[in-house]
Amino acid sequence: MTGVFSLLPEGRTGLLVPSLSEAGLPGGEDIDGYLAEGGYAPLVAPDRLLGRIAAAGLRGRGGAGFPAAVKLRTVRDAPGPRVIVANGEEGEPGSVKDRWLLRHRPHVVLDGLRLAAAVTGAGRGFVYLSDAEAERAVRRALAESAPELRIDVVRTEHTYVAGEETAVVRRVDGGPALPTAKPPRPFESGVGGAPTLVANVETLARIAVMYSRPDEADAVAGTHLVTLSGGGEGDAALVEVPVGAHLKVLADVCGHGRAEAVLLGGLFGGLYGEGWTDLPLDHDSLNAAGAALGCGALHFLHPDDCPVAVAVEAAAYLGAQSARQCGVCLSGTGAMTKALSAVASGEASHDTVAKLHRWSQQLPGRGACALLDAAARVVATLLAHFPDAVDAHCRSVCPACAGPAPEDGRRFTVTVP
Ligand code: SF4
Repeated sequence: MTGVFSLLPEGRTGLLVPSLSEAGLPGGEDIDGYLAEGGYAPLVAPDRLLGRIAAAGLRGRGGAGFPAAVKLRTVRDAPGPRVIVANGEEGEPGSVKDRWLLRHRPHVVLDGLRLAAAVTGAGRGFVYLSDAEAERAVRRALAESAPELRIDVVRTEHTYVAGEETAVVRRVDGGPALPTAKPPRPFESGVGGAPTLVANVETLARIAVMYSRPDEADAVAGTHLVTLSGGGEGDAALVEVPVGAHLKVLADVCGHGRAEAVLLGGLFGGLYGEGWTDLPLDHDSLNAAGAALGCGALHFLHPDDCPVAVAVEAAAYLGAQSARQCGVCLSGTGAMTKALSAVASGEASHDTVAKLHRWSQQLPGRGACALLDAAARVVATLLAHFPDAVDAHCRSVCPACAGPAPEDGRRFTVTVP
Protein backbone atom coordinates (compact mmCIF):
# COMPACT_ATOMS: atom_id res chain seq x y z
CA MET A 1 0.00 0.00 0.00
CA THR A 2 1.35 3.44 -0.86
CA GLY A 3 0.28 6.99 -0.12
CA VAL A 4 -0.38 8.74 3.18
CA PHE A 5 -2.49 7.19 5.92
CA SER A 6 -2.81 6.57 9.62
CA LEU A 7 -2.58 3.13 11.19
CA LEU A 8 -3.95 4.10 14.57
CA PRO A 9 -6.24 1.54 16.22
CA GLU A 10 -9.65 1.06 14.65
CA GLY A 11 -12.14 3.79 15.44
CA ARG A 12 -9.42 6.43 15.97
CA THR A 13 -9.19 9.37 13.60
CA GLY A 14 -5.78 10.26 12.27
CA LEU A 15 -3.88 12.91 14.20
CA LEU A 16 -1.73 14.45 11.47
CA VAL A 17 -2.75 12.39 8.44
CA PRO A 18 -6.08 10.79 7.48
CA SER A 19 -6.91 7.34 8.79
CA LEU A 20 -7.69 4.68 6.21
CA SER A 21 -11.42 5.16 6.65
CA GLU A 22 -11.35 8.98 6.42
CA ALA A 23 -11.72 11.01 3.27
CA GLY A 24 -9.57 14.12 3.01
CA LEU A 25 -7.29 15.62 5.59
CA PRO A 26 -8.13 16.29 9.23
CA GLY A 27 -8.17 20.08 9.41
CA GLY A 28 -6.54 20.35 6.02
CA GLU A 29 -4.57 23.35 4.89
CA ASP A 30 -7.61 25.57 4.64
CA ILE A 31 -7.73 28.19 7.40
CA ASP A 32 -11.50 27.85 7.93
CA GLY A 33 -11.23 24.10 8.31
CA TYR A 34 -8.30 24.45 10.67
CA LEU A 35 -10.11 27.00 12.84
CA ALA A 36 -13.15 24.72 12.92
CA GLU A 37 -10.89 21.97 14.31
CA GLY A 38 -9.99 24.26 17.23
CA GLY A 39 -6.74 25.52 15.74
CA TYR A 40 -5.13 28.86 16.69
CA ALA A 41 -7.07 28.96 19.98
CA PRO A 42 -5.74 31.63 22.40
CA LEU A 43 -3.11 30.30 24.80
CA VAL A 44 -3.91 31.58 28.28
CA ALA A 45 -1.68 29.30 30.35
CA PRO A 46 1.64 28.48 28.62
CA ASP A 47 2.96 26.64 31.67
CA ARG A 48 -0.05 24.34 31.65
CA LEU A 49 0.67 23.42 28.02
CA LEU A 50 4.32 22.82 28.93
CA GLY A 51 3.17 20.55 31.75
CA ARG A 52 0.96 18.63 29.33
CA ILE A 53 3.85 18.16 26.89
CA ALA A 54 6.09 16.93 29.73
CA ALA A 55 3.46 14.60 31.19
CA ALA A 56 2.74 13.04 27.80
CA GLY A 57 6.47 12.50 27.24
CA LEU A 58 6.60 14.08 23.79
CA ARG A 59 9.98 13.53 22.17
CA GLY A 60 11.45 15.58 19.32
CA ARG A 61 10.88 14.17 15.84
CA GLY A 62 13.99 15.52 14.13
CA GLY A 63 16.02 12.39 14.85
CA ALA A 64 17.59 12.53 18.29
CA GLY A 65 14.33 11.95 20.17
CA PHE A 66 15.20 14.44 22.89
CA PRO A 67 12.35 15.26 25.33
CA ALA A 68 10.50 18.26 23.87
CA ALA A 69 9.57 19.73 27.27
CA VAL A 70 13.23 19.87 28.36
CA LYS A 71 14.19 21.85 25.26
CA LEU A 72 11.24 24.22 25.67
CA ARG A 73 12.01 24.77 29.34
CA THR A 74 15.71 25.37 28.71
CA VAL A 75 14.99 28.12 26.19
CA ARG A 76 12.23 29.59 28.35
CA ASP A 77 14.66 29.88 31.28
CA ALA A 78 17.49 31.40 29.23
CA PRO A 79 18.09 35.15 29.66
CA GLY A 80 17.28 37.82 27.08
CA PRO A 81 15.22 37.84 23.89
CA ARG A 82 14.57 34.36 22.50
CA VAL A 83 14.04 32.96 19.02
CA ILE A 84 12.26 29.90 17.67
CA VAL A 85 12.88 28.11 14.38
CA ALA A 86 10.52 25.55 12.83
CA ASN A 87 12.97 23.21 11.15
CA GLY A 88 11.45 21.64 8.04
CA GLU A 89 14.69 20.73 6.31
CA GLU A 90 14.88 16.93 6.30
CA GLY A 91 18.28 15.89 5.03
CA GLU A 92 17.62 12.16 5.06
CA PRO A 93 16.82 11.19 1.45
CA GLY A 94 14.40 8.49 2.64
CA SER A 95 12.20 10.78 4.73
CA VAL A 96 9.29 12.85 3.45
CA LYS A 97 7.25 13.61 6.57
CA ASP A 98 8.46 17.17 7.14
CA ARG A 99 8.00 18.28 3.55
CA TRP A 100 4.59 16.60 3.45
CA LEU A 101 3.50 18.38 6.62
CA LEU A 102 4.65 21.78 5.36
CA ARG A 103 2.98 21.27 1.98
CA HIS A 104 -0.31 19.87 3.29
CA ARG A 105 -0.64 20.92 6.96
CA PRO A 106 1.13 24.31 7.14
CA HIS A 107 -1.41 25.68 9.62
CA VAL A 108 -0.84 22.95 12.17
CA VAL A 109 2.93 23.60 11.97
CA LEU A 110 2.50 27.38 12.28
CA ASP A 111 0.08 26.89 15.16
CA GLY A 112 2.67 24.73 16.94
CA LEU A 113 5.28 27.38 16.25
CA ARG A 114 3.25 30.18 17.85
CA LEU A 115 2.38 27.93 20.85
CA ALA A 116 6.03 26.99 21.37
CA ALA A 117 6.95 30.68 21.06
CA ALA A 118 4.42 31.52 23.78
CA VAL A 119 5.77 28.75 26.03
CA THR A 120 9.39 29.87 25.61
CA GLY A 121 8.70 33.62 25.47
CA ALA A 122 10.28 33.83 22.00
CA GLY A 123 9.53 37.10 20.23
CA ARG A 124 10.72 36.08 16.79
CA GLY A 125 10.06 33.00 14.68
CA PHE A 126 11.39 31.45 11.49
CA VAL A 127 10.29 28.62 9.23
CA TYR A 128 13.37 26.97 7.73
CA LEU A 129 12.98 24.78 4.63
CA SER A 130 14.37 23.95 1.22
CA ASP A 131 11.30 22.62 -0.60
CA ALA A 132 9.73 25.14 -3.03
CA GLU A 133 6.24 23.67 -2.77
CA ALA A 134 6.44 23.70 1.02
CA GLU A 135 7.54 27.34 0.92
CA ARG A 136 4.53 28.32 -1.19
CA ALA A 137 2.15 26.52 1.20
CA VAL A 138 3.71 28.16 4.27
CA ARG A 139 3.64 31.66 2.76
CA ARG A 140 -0.01 31.16 1.78
CA ALA A 141 -0.84 29.98 5.30
CA LEU A 142 1.01 32.92 6.86
CA ALA A 143 -1.00 35.33 4.70
CA GLU A 144 -4.23 33.63 5.81
CA SER A 145 -3.50 33.47 9.51
CA ALA A 146 -1.61 36.74 10.17
CA PRO A 147 0.04 35.53 13.40
CA GLU A 148 0.86 38.02 16.14
CA LEU A 149 4.43 36.67 16.22
CA ARG A 150 6.77 37.90 13.49
CA ILE A 151 7.61 34.84 11.37
CA ASP A 152 10.04 34.84 8.45
CA VAL A 153 10.60 32.04 5.99
CA VAL A 154 14.24 31.12 5.32
CA ARG A 155 15.03 28.95 2.32
CA THR A 156 18.15 26.81 2.27
CA GLU A 157 19.83 24.38 -0.08
CA HIS A 158 18.79 20.76 0.33
CA THR A 159 21.77 18.83 1.72
CA TYR A 160 22.21 16.05 4.26
CA VAL A 161 23.53 18.42 6.93
CA ALA A 162 21.43 21.57 6.25
CA GLY A 163 18.87 20.58 8.90
CA GLU A 164 21.44 20.05 11.67
CA GLU A 165 20.61 22.60 14.37
CA THR A 166 23.83 24.61 14.25
CA ALA A 167 23.66 24.64 10.43
CA VAL A 168 20.12 25.98 10.75
CA VAL A 169 21.27 28.83 12.98
CA ARG A 170 24.17 29.66 10.69
CA ARG A 171 21.90 29.81 7.62
CA VAL A 172 19.18 31.85 9.36
CA ASP A 173 21.94 34.31 10.30
CA GLY A 174 22.79 34.64 6.61
CA GLY A 175 25.72 32.22 6.43
CA PRO A 176 26.14 28.80 4.81
CA ALA A 177 23.99 25.90 6.08
CA LEU A 178 26.97 24.11 7.62
CA PRO A 179 27.27 22.72 11.15
CA THR A 180 29.53 24.38 13.70
CA ALA A 181 31.34 22.91 16.68
CA LYS A 182 29.34 22.57 19.92
CA PRO A 183 29.22 24.13 22.48
CA PRO A 184 27.63 26.58 22.26
CA ARG A 185 24.36 24.88 21.35
CA PRO A 186 21.56 27.00 19.84
CA PHE A 187 19.66 27.12 23.16
CA GLU A 188 22.72 28.90 24.62
CA SER A 189 23.65 31.06 21.65
CA GLY A 190 21.62 30.72 18.47
CA VAL A 191 20.17 33.11 15.91
CA GLY A 192 21.82 36.52 16.34
CA GLY A 193 23.38 35.18 19.55
CA ALA A 194 19.96 34.77 21.20
CA PRO A 195 18.86 31.57 22.94
CA THR A 196 17.11 29.67 20.16
CA LEU A 197 14.76 26.72 20.05
CA VAL A 198 15.28 24.77 16.83
CA ALA A 199 12.25 22.48 16.69
CA ASN A 200 11.35 19.91 14.06
CA VAL A 201 8.08 20.70 12.26
CA GLU A 202 6.48 17.37 13.25
CA THR A 203 7.27 18.14 16.90
CA LEU A 204 5.56 21.52 16.55
CA ALA A 205 2.57 20.00 14.77
CA ARG A 206 2.18 17.53 17.64
CA ILE A 207 2.26 20.38 20.16
CA ALA A 208 -0.58 22.07 18.25
CA VAL A 209 -2.69 18.89 18.17
CA MET A 210 -1.95 18.30 21.85
CA TYR A 211 -3.32 21.75 22.61
CA SER A 212 -6.48 21.47 20.50
CA ARG A 213 -7.17 17.85 21.59
CA PRO A 214 -6.07 17.78 25.24
CA ASP A 215 -7.76 14.45 25.95
CA GLU A 216 -5.53 12.83 23.36
CA ALA A 217 -2.18 14.23 24.53
CA ASP A 218 -0.77 10.78 25.30
CA ALA A 219 -1.82 9.43 21.92
CA VAL A 220 -0.31 12.45 20.18
CA ALA A 221 3.03 11.92 21.95
CA GLY A 222 2.82 8.18 21.36
CA THR A 223 2.49 8.35 17.60
CA HIS A 224 5.11 8.71 14.87
CA LEU A 225 5.06 9.68 11.24
CA VAL A 226 7.26 7.18 9.41
CA THR A 227 8.34 6.91 5.79
CA LEU A 228 8.40 3.32 4.50
CA SER A 229 10.18 2.47 1.26
CA GLY A 230 12.44 -0.03 -0.38
CA GLY A 231 13.03 -2.97 -2.60
CA GLY A 232 11.68 -1.45 -5.77
CA GLU A 233 8.28 -2.82 -4.78
CA GLY A 234 6.14 0.25 -5.31
CA ASP A 235 6.13 3.82 -4.13
CA ALA A 236 6.83 4.86 -0.60
CA ALA A 237 4.21 5.37 2.08
CA LEU A 238 3.99 8.03 4.78
CA VAL A 239 2.27 6.35 7.70
CA GLU A 240 1.18 7.47 11.15
CA VAL A 241 1.81 4.62 13.61
CA PRO A 242 1.69 4.11 17.36
CA VAL A 243 5.01 3.90 19.19
CA GLY A 244 5.87 0.24 19.71
CA ALA A 245 4.35 -1.00 16.44
CA HIS A 246 6.35 -3.98 15.19
CA LEU A 247 8.38 -3.35 12.09
CA LYS A 248 7.07 -6.55 10.52
CA VAL A 249 3.50 -5.26 10.77
CA LEU A 250 4.53 -2.03 9.06
CA ALA A 251 6.35 -3.95 6.34
CA ASP A 252 3.34 -6.20 5.71
CA VAL A 253 0.88 -3.33 5.53
CA CYS A 254 2.98 -1.55 2.93
CA GLY A 255 3.74 -4.57 0.75
CA HIS A 256 7.26 -5.28 2.02
CA GLY A 257 6.40 -8.61 3.61
CA ARG A 258 9.20 -10.37 1.71
CA ALA A 259 11.84 -8.04 3.14
CA GLU A 260 14.81 -9.75 4.79
CA ALA A 261 16.43 -6.73 6.40
CA VAL A 262 15.88 -3.05 7.05
CA LEU A 263 17.90 0.15 6.99
CA LEU A 264 16.67 2.33 9.84
CA GLY A 265 16.49 6.04 10.54
CA GLY A 266 17.14 7.08 6.97
CA LEU A 267 20.88 6.43 6.71
CA PHE A 268 21.45 7.15 10.38
CA GLY A 269 20.07 4.07 12.17
CA GLY A 270 22.06 1.31 10.54
CA LEU A 271 21.27 -2.00 8.88
CA TYR A 272 19.41 -4.72 10.72
CA GLY A 273 19.17 -8.32 9.51
CA GLU A 274 17.86 -11.44 11.22
CA GLY A 275 15.49 -10.54 14.02
CA TRP A 276 14.42 -7.23 12.49
CA THR A 277 10.81 -8.43 12.37
CA ASP A 278 10.66 -8.46 16.18
CA LEU A 279 11.87 -4.89 16.60
CA PRO A 280 9.31 -2.42 17.96
CA LEU A 281 9.27 1.11 16.64
CA ASP A 282 10.52 3.20 19.54
CA HIS A 283 13.73 5.02 20.32
CA ASP A 284 14.70 3.11 23.45
CA SER A 285 14.11 -0.40 22.07
CA LEU A 286 15.97 0.36 18.87
CA ASN A 287 18.86 1.98 20.73
CA ALA A 288 19.08 -1.08 22.97
CA ALA A 289 19.25 -3.24 19.84
CA GLY A 290 22.18 -1.20 18.50
CA ALA A 291 20.00 0.59 15.94
CA ALA A 292 18.33 4.01 15.91
CA LEU A 293 14.95 5.33 14.85
CA GLY A 294 16.30 8.73 13.76
CA CYS A 295 13.72 10.62 11.71
CA GLY A 296 11.57 7.49 11.30
CA ALA A 297 12.49 6.53 7.73
CA LEU A 298 12.61 2.76 7.12
CA HIS A 299 14.04 1.27 3.93
CA PHE A 300 13.32 -2.45 3.50
CA LEU A 301 15.81 -4.78 1.83
CA HIS A 302 14.30 -7.53 -0.28
CA PRO A 303 15.78 -10.89 -1.29
CA ASP A 304 17.43 -9.38 -4.38
CA ASP A 305 19.04 -6.56 -2.39
CA CYS A 306 22.59 -7.11 -1.18
CA PRO A 307 23.37 -5.54 2.22
CA VAL A 308 26.97 -4.92 1.12
CA ALA A 309 25.79 -3.00 -1.96
CA VAL A 310 23.38 -1.02 0.22
CA ALA A 311 26.18 -0.18 2.66
CA VAL A 312 28.49 0.94 -0.16
CA GLU A 313 25.82 3.23 -1.58
CA ALA A 314 24.97 4.66 1.84
CA ALA A 315 28.61 5.32 2.76
CA ALA A 316 29.37 6.83 -0.65
CA TYR A 317 26.33 9.08 -0.42
CA LEU A 318 27.29 10.25 3.06
CA GLY A 319 30.89 10.84 1.91
CA ALA A 320 29.62 12.95 -0.99
CA GLN A 321 27.38 14.91 1.40
CA SER A 322 30.18 15.59 3.88
CA ALA A 323 30.50 19.31 4.41
CA ARG A 324 34.28 18.77 4.31
CA GLN A 325 34.88 20.91 7.34
CA CYS A 326 36.25 18.23 9.65
CA GLY A 327 39.32 16.39 8.41
CA VAL A 328 38.28 13.23 10.22
CA CYS A 329 34.92 13.22 8.40
CA LEU A 330 36.48 13.70 4.99
CA SER A 331 39.13 11.04 5.48
CA GLY A 332 36.88 8.72 7.51
CA THR A 333 33.93 8.57 5.09
CA GLY A 334 36.37 8.26 2.18
CA ALA A 335 38.32 5.42 3.78
CA MET A 336 35.20 3.51 4.81
CA THR A 337 33.64 3.86 1.35
CA LYS A 338 36.84 2.68 -0.31
CA ALA A 339 37.13 -0.34 1.98
CA LEU A 340 33.43 -1.22 1.56
CA SER A 341 33.82 -0.95 -2.22
CA ALA A 342 36.75 -3.36 -2.00
CA VAL A 343 34.51 -5.79 -0.09
CA ALA A 344 31.77 -5.42 -2.71
CA SER A 345 34.15 -6.07 -5.59
CA GLY A 346 35.71 -9.13 -3.98
CA GLU A 347 39.07 -7.41 -3.47
CA ALA A 348 39.05 -7.07 0.30
CA SER A 349 41.36 -8.97 2.61
CA HIS A 350 40.55 -9.82 6.21
CA ASP A 351 42.79 -6.90 7.11
CA THR A 352 40.40 -4.59 5.20
CA VAL A 353 37.48 -5.95 7.21
CA ALA A 354 39.45 -5.51 10.45
CA LYS A 355 40.11 -1.88 9.52
CA LEU A 356 36.42 -1.33 8.83
CA HIS A 357 35.61 -2.76 12.22
CA ARG A 358 38.16 -0.49 13.93
CA TRP A 359 36.96 2.67 12.14
CA SER A 360 33.34 1.90 12.93
CA GLN A 361 34.24 1.91 16.62
CA GLN A 362 36.68 4.83 16.65
CA LEU A 363 35.02 7.42 14.39
CA PRO A 364 31.62 8.08 16.01
CA GLY A 365 31.51 11.40 17.85
CA ARG A 366 34.61 12.77 16.11
CA GLY A 367 32.84 15.11 13.62
CA ALA A 368 31.01 18.35 14.32
CA CYS A 369 27.74 16.72 13.26
CA ALA A 370 26.27 13.22 13.06
CA LEU A 371 27.10 12.49 9.42
CA LEU A 372 30.28 10.64 10.30
CA ASP A 373 28.39 8.71 13.00
CA ALA A 374 25.84 7.63 10.39
CA ALA A 375 28.54 6.29 8.08
CA ALA A 376 30.26 4.47 10.96
CA ARG A 377 26.97 2.92 12.06
CA VAL A 378 26.26 1.64 8.55
CA VAL A 379 29.65 -0.11 8.65
CA ALA A 380 29.28 -1.39 12.22
CA THR A 381 25.82 -2.84 11.61
CA LEU A 382 26.82 -4.41 8.29
CA LEU A 383 29.66 -6.24 10.07
CA ALA A 384 27.52 -7.17 13.07
CA HIS A 385 24.40 -8.39 11.25
CA PHE A 386 25.76 -9.70 7.96
CA PRO A 387 29.11 -11.35 8.76
CA ASP A 388 28.46 -14.23 6.35
CA ALA A 389 27.66 -11.87 3.49
CA VAL A 390 30.83 -9.86 4.18
CA ASP A 391 32.89 -13.03 4.36
CA ALA A 392 31.40 -14.37 1.13
CA HIS A 393 32.16 -11.08 -0.65
CA CYS A 394 35.81 -11.41 0.33
CA ARG A 395 35.89 -14.54 -1.84
CA SER A 396 33.63 -13.70 -4.77
CA VAL A 397 31.40 -10.94 -6.10
CA CYS A 398 27.63 -11.24 -5.88
CA PRO A 399 25.41 -10.26 -8.85
CA ALA A 400 24.05 -7.17 -7.06
CA CYS A 401 27.59 -5.85 -6.47
CA ALA A 402 28.89 -6.72 -9.94
CA GLY A 403 27.78 -3.47 -11.60
CA PRO A 404 29.19 0.01 -10.97
CA ALA A 405 28.33 1.23 -7.48
CA PRO A 406 25.88 4.17 -7.61
CA GLU A 407 26.95 7.08 -5.44
CA ASP A 408 23.93 9.33 -5.67
CA GLY A 409 21.80 7.60 -3.04
CA ARG A 410 18.99 7.10 -5.56
CA ARG A 411 18.07 3.80 -3.94
CA PHE A 412 17.13 5.65 -0.76
CA THR A 413 15.50 8.70 -2.27
CA VAL A 414 11.75 8.97 -1.76
CA THR A 415 9.36 11.31 -3.56
CA VAL A 416 6.84 13.21 -1.41
CA PRO A 417 3.46 11.49 -1.88
S1 SF4 B 1 31.23 15.78 10.52
FE1 SF4 B 1 31.37 15.95 8.30
S2 SF4 B 1 29.42 16.72 7.60
FE2 SF4 B 1 29.54 17.07 9.82
S3 SF4 B 1 30.38 19.15 10.04
FE3 SF4 B 1 32.14 17.78 10.05
S4 SF4 B 1 32.76 17.66 7.87
FE4 SF4 B 1 30.71 18.52 7.93
